[in-house]
This record gives sequence, C-alpha cells and structure tokens, in this order.
Amino acid sequence: MDKSSTDNRSLITDQFNRVHDYLRISLTERCNLRCFYCMPEEGIQLRPRSEFMTAEEVMEMARIFVSLGVKKIRLTGGEPLVRKDAKEIITKLSQLPIELAITTNGILVDDYIATLKSNGLKSINLSLDSLKKEKFNSIVRRDYFDKVISNIDLLLKEKFHVKINAVIIKGVNDDEICDFVAWTRDKNVHIRFIEFMPFTGNKWDWSKGVSFMEIITKIEKKYGDDILKLKDAVNDTAKNYAVKDHLGTFAVISSVTNPFCDTCNRIRLTADGKIKNCLFSGTETDLLSAMRKGEDIIPKILESIWNKKAMRGGMDSFKDFSDSSQNQKNRSMVNIGG
Ligand code: SAM
Ligand code: SF4
Repeated sequence: MDKSSTDNRSLITDQFNRVHDYLRISLTERCNLRCFYCMPEEGIQLRPRSEFMTAEEVMEMARIFVSLGVKKIRLTGGEPLVRKDAKEIITKLSQLPIELAITTNGILVDDYIATLKSNGLKSINLSLDSLKKEKFNSIVRRDYFDKVISNIDLLLKEKFHVKINAVIIKGVNDDEICDFVAWTRDKNVHIRFIEFMPFTGNKWDWSKGVSFMEIITKIEKKYGDDILKLKDAVNDTAKNYAVKDHLGTFAVISSVTNPFCDTCNRIRLTADGKIKNCLFSGTETDLLSAMRKGEDIIPKILESIWNKKAMRGGMDSFKDFSDSSQNQKNRSMVNIGG
C-alpha cells in the first residue's frame, strides 16, 4: 500500500449515506458439510488454489479496509476453519484494531479453542439447524451431529458467547422452533432463526420459507406473556427476544420478509478476492487481480460501495426477489460467504 492510501481516512459510504465499517471475509469456498440450502446438490467446482487469496493477501486486504474505517471483520466461508492456515490468519488479524468474529459450522472448533482464546475472540456464531441427530445429518448431508453438539458444550464451558444460526425451512425443521427456544432455558445459547434466502443452486421458493411472523406466532402460542423483547444493536440484523427466566435468548433474522437494508453496514470479500457490495448483488469487483498487479484498490472499493443499490442488490420488490432468474445471477451461498 502506498502512502497516499494509508493517509486516506475517509469512511466507506454509499449514495444513501450508509457507512460501511463491517467486512466479512470468506476464507474458502470449501466446506466439510453439504447443507442443502447453501451448497448445490452437485457440489461446487473446485478451482486451483492460485485463484484464492493467500494468508498474506487476506492480511493486505484487511489492512486496506481497516485504513478506510472498517472496525469489525468476520471470517466466514465455506467453512473458514478447514483452511490449513486459519490459525495464522486469526492470529495476525487479531493484531489489527478491529473486533474479530467468526461464523463456523463448529466441527473443527475443539482444535481452535486455544487460538480463539489467546487472540481475544469471545463470541462465536455457529450453525445448527436441528436438535435431532437424524434430521441434522440429513440437512447437512454428513454425520457430524454429535461432534457439533459436543463442541457447543465445549465453547460454553470455555465461557464463549455462543450464537446458534438455524435456517428455518417449512416441513424440515419448523416443528423444532419451540424446541430451540426450550433449549435456551438451561443452556446459555443465543438462537437466531434465519429466514430461508435464495441463492444459485439452492432450489429456493418462498413456499418453503417460514416468515418472521410465523416464527414469532409459534413461540407466542407456547410462551405468551413470558416473552421479553430485548434491545437490538444499531446495525443488528436480528430482532432479539428472551423467555423469562431462560439462561439463553432467541432472535429472528428476517432477511426475506423484512430486510434490514436501511442500516446495512456490510461489505463482503469472497475467497477469490472479489468485493460484493450486497449479499444479493449480481455483480462484483475483482480486487485480488488488481492487487496482484500492484494497483491501488482503494478507488475500486469506494466505487463498489458507492454504487450499492438501496435494497437487496436492486431487487426492490418481493416479486423481483423471488424471481429465480434474478437470483441465478448471484453465486451460491457457499462461495459468497454468509
Ligand atoms: N460454514 C459456516 C457456517 O455454516 O456457519 C460459515 C458459512 S455459512 C454460508 C454462514 C451462514 O449462512 C450459516 O449460518 C448458514 O446457515 C447461512 N446460510 C447459508 N445458506 C443460507 C440460505 N439459503 N438462507 C439463509 N441462511 C443461509
Ligand atoms: Fe458449509 Fe456453512 Fe454452507 Fe453448511 S452453511 S454447506 S456448513 S458453508
């Protein structure tokens, strides 16, 4: 990075005055699970390692974004922890003046506890779509339920703040919504029910979706006046609740029926070094190739975010959003980085 770049303190903003200070970096497109709502049935085409950011390039990208005002970085994927150099990346990134976070399927967490603790990561987002072994294994198309559950217990024992992401899909796991809430009675976990979102190859249609209203209505039927509304943070995508006297909490992320675009502060960097200004954007800008040519990538970052659409990558209406031809312009979730 040249001096003019390091002196550039301007925040990354768009035409709608949204300040972007939260970067999600995908470390890999690879994954040790095959969740049907994320990974296409036929899998994804594996590409040569040279097309993806090295650990040094991840650091260089991160430093540039931090110089532009990014304050929080979340590592995601694919499964970020399958990368052989994930420990090195976590250790180096944690030296930047940022809050470092991670989203993982939890399978390899036991091998990372020491690294996470020594680098100050206190909160982990972990995916778990069912509390029933057979069902979980059929959703993720692998046999890892026991490992994930034991790693959740390990994280709790080690005093991590554990958020559990559960994508709710009709006829698959919507019968478990109240079971997840009941789980929070004695377990200090923070469940986040996520509406099923459309991406290339995941055979989405909203008849399979379960809305925020449906989720809350089910919980209200069981818990009624014992449900407490909690305060949501400014850029929080989740609406947070708890049940009276429960140790944990629950939340709903209504990306489909009530998107949180107005306060969006998120930037995504794919494992192959493309910036995406929105999860649903059909376009992206190649930062990695430019960086490898020695070009200043700051103007590309600023331009990409400046051109961010007001809502869901330009799909303003629910009709646009649920039009599969629009969503086919995007990637699969596994190679965006959720
Ligand atoms: N492998 C890690 C994991 O599963 O937590 C990180 C990457 S994963 C793509 C990040 C999050 O995206 C997960 O919580 C997953 O449940 C969510 N996700 C994937 N596909 C989704 C979809 N179609 N709709 C809603 N959430 C989805
Ligand atoms: Fe892998 Fe996470 Fe996608 Fe499941 S949701 S296939 S664990 S990247």
